[in-house]
Amino acid sequence: MNSLAIGGLALFVSAAVHLSGEGKVAVIEATKVPKSVQSVPDEMLARSASRILPPSPAVIFVKPEPVKRVAAPAAGDLRPVVILDPGHGGRDGGTIAGGALEKQMNLDAATRVAKRLRKAGVRVVFTRSDDSYVSLAQRAMIANRFVDALFVSIHHNASTNESPRGVETYYTMPKSGSAERVQRRRFGARSGEAFVDRRGELLATEIQDAFALATGAVDRGIKNQILVVTRMVSCPAVLVECGFLSNLVEAKNLRSESYREKMSAGIAGGIMRYLNAVANQKMFGVSFPGRTVESGM
Ligand SMILES: [Zn+2]
Repeated sequence: MNSLAIGGLALFVSAAVHLSGEGKVAVIEATKVPKSVQSVPDEMLARSASRILPPSPAVIFVKPEPVKRVAAPAAGDLRPVVILDPGHGGRDGGTIAGGALEKQMNLDAATRVAKRLRKAGVRVVFTRSDDSYVSLAQRAMIANRFVDALFVSIHHNASTNESPRGVETYYTMPKSGSAERVQRRRFGARSGEAFVDRRGELLATEIQDAFALATGAVDRGIKNQILVVTRMVSCPAVLVECGFLSNLVEAKNLRSESYREKMSAGIAGGIMRYLNAVANQKMFGVSFPGRTVESGM
């Protein structure tokens, strides 16, 4: 749906309308949102998207690997952990366009990304690995079992207008107080000490750049927005909108096997670039502006 609820408030998500249920929540100045825009029903948006795009039953999805939804952090396992969060699932289908269901496309993309990450020695955790409904709070809870991980939510976009296309990546800065406290503790911030955590933004940049480069998709840039998952998850967290199912050209690309492979290579490549940066510099993206000498962490 285009209007998404946070704390009971329905808010409109700019021009890039996200047709899904709980997947993405943006807080923009609510006072500027016309009432008529807020009340566009999902079905209407879904129908308009279906009209734009011809049905395409030919989409072949990769078989998701059976993985435990929540694996406890294993002692002695030093592999970096990446939590992949395929948006929607179960009764929440997300965007529907031309016979393609967003929830399926999200899981397909996440499964492809996971394969690449595992090959590179990364431990991957899924918030869902099948067509089950997982609430945003549950997704954040799963992710927050891993203080020292990366969280990447994968979605597909849609608009009431046919023209928007391209990839965009979201992060949230600052995060919720509880999420920030966890990371302050992790990095040894003193009580009341200034602590700047730009890791979400940096992860978003790496993924966005690598995605655009790998696919040639229109680069819509990274965006700082208050979304439930990226705000509540304490580790660096981003949400990738892989492209617009409401745009004819992009929808065709997104349904093609070769494009989805390029896309997953881009997402995984961006994650790996970030992980390499952290391996070389433990304080990557984190700073204490009040300190004159680095603590050496
Ligand atoms: Zn979505």
